Amino acid sequence: MNRGIPIIDKERCKGCGLCIANCPKDILAKTSDVNDQGAYYTVCTDESLCIACGACALMCPDAAIEINKLVEAV
Ligand code: SF4
Ligand code: SF4
Repeated sequence: MNRGIPIIDKERCKGCGLCIANCPKDILAKTSDVNDQGAYYTVCTDESLCIACGACALMCPDAAIEINKLVEAV
């Protein structure tokens, strides 16, 4: 069960790849599409695997990622 959802603001993303390199679940990837600044922005490929560790948001130099933490089921 996923513990969070990474919310990526595609227009802030410059495609540097730091979040991709630091996601322990390897669920971030660049698109083949470009945003308004011409960058191949990042998306989450499988939200069900996100552990809400926050590494991606911490690494992003452009503050393009927020983690929507989900309440864990009991
Ligand atoms: S919060 Fe952690 S597991 Fe989820 S996408 Fe970001 S780096 Fe990956
Ligand atoms: S770290 Fe930020 S700017 Fe770099 S690819 Fe990830 S979301 Fe985009």
